[in-house]
Amino acid sequence: MASAFSDDIAIDLGTANTLVHVAGRGIIIDEPSVVAVRPFRGVREILAVGRKAKTLMARSPESLELVRPLRDGVIADFVATEEMLRQFIKRTKTMLGFRRPRILICVPAGATPVERRAVHDTAVSLGVRKVYLIAEPVAASLGSGLPIEERGGAMVVDIGGGTTDIAVLSGGVIVEARTLRCAGNAMDEAIIRYVRRKHSLLIGEANAERIKIEAGTAQHRVNGRAAEVHIRGRDLRKGWAKTAVLTPKDIAEALSEPIDTMADFVQRALEELPPDILSDITRRGIHLTGGGALLDNLNVALARRVGVKFHVQKNPMHCVVKGSAAVLAGLDEHAHLLMRP
Ligand code: ADP
Ligand code: MG
Repeated sequence: MASAFSDDIAIDLGTANTLVHVAGRGIIIDEPSVVAVRPFRGVREILAVGRKAKTLMARSPESLELVRPLRDGVIADFVATEEMLRQFIKRTKTMLGFRRPRILICVPAGATPVERRAVHDTAVSLGVRKVYLIAEPVAASLGSGLPIEERGGAMVVDIGGGTTDIAVLSGGVIVEARTLRCAGNAMDEAIIRYVRRKHSLLIGEANAERIKIEAGTAQHRVNGRAAEVHIRGRDLRKGWAKTAVLTPKDIAEALSEPIDTMADFVQRALEELPPDILSDITRRGIHLTGGGALLDNLNVALARRVGVKFHVQKNPMHCVVKGSAAVLAGLDEHAHLLMRP
C-alpha cells in the first residue's frame, strides 16, 4: 500500500524559500528561492539554484547576479522560476529514484492564470505523472492541523517574504483566499527607510533582514526583547562608513507601517465574511503561519489592531508544505481544494 503513494512530492514554491516534501520521508529540501545568473554577452547563463546559488554568489559577487524569481509573489522572472523548479524536481527524482511522481505545487492565492500555467507546464515538462496546484494559505490551513472539515470557519494568515496570504475555510470548503503584496520583504524595506531617515545611514536588504530577525519586535514590551543591534553602513551625506545602534523599540516603530497594512488587509477580509463565519473566527482566533509569523510579538501587534486573537502555529515555515503533502495523500477527499492550472 505504501508504495502506491510513496512517489508523491509536495512543493512549497515560496517567494523566500522553497521546500520539498516527499511522502514517507518528510522535508528533503528547504532552500532559499534564489538563482545565480552569469550575464554573458547579453545572454544570461543560470549557474545554480537555492543554497548553492548563494554560495557561488558569496564567492564571486562581481561576476554573478542573484535573482529572486518570485520576489513579490508574482513570477517576476519566468525563466529563472522554471529553472529553479526544474532543478529542485530533478534533484528530488534523482535522490529517490522516482520515475513519474505526482506533484502538488503551492502558489500564492493571487497567482494569475499565466503564472499558474507556467508553474504547471514546467513540472509537466519534467516527466511528472500528474501536477496539481493549490493556493498557499489553503495548504497552510491543512498544515496547521486546523479542523477544516468541521462546520465553523477558520482563518489562516500566512506571512512569507513577498506576500501575505489569507484563507478562510469552513466545512472543508474555501470561503475566501486572497493575497497582499506586503510581507517580510516589506518589513526589511521599512527598516532600511527608518535607518536612512533617523541615522542617514544606508544599509542593504540582507542587513535589514538580519536586524529584523535578531532584534526585531512588532511591539515593544517592558520585559520583552532587549538586545540592541549595532549596524554599520554608509553615511548618506558624507559617504563614509558609519555605525548606529537600534533598540527593539526603534524596530517596532520602523515596522509599524507594514504591520498596519497587513492588519488592514485582515480587517477587510473579515468585514466581507458572512456573519456566522465571522463569529466563529472571532471566537477561535486567527492562525499565523509563514516565516513572518516568527517576528517577536507579531501576534500581539496584529491582535491589538484587528481586535481578534492571533495564534502562531508550531513550525510556521513548514505549514504550507506539510498541508500540501496532506492534500496529496488524501487527494480524493481534498480534490475540491485544488486550484485550476
Ligand atoms: P515564502 O513563503 O514567501 O517563501 P517564508 O514563509 O519562507 O516565505 O518566510 C520568509 C520570510 O520570513 C522572510 O521575509 C524572512 O525574513 C522572515 N523570517 C524568517 N524568520 C524570521 C524571524 N525569526 N523573525 C521575523 N521574520 C522572519
Ligand atoms: Mg510561503
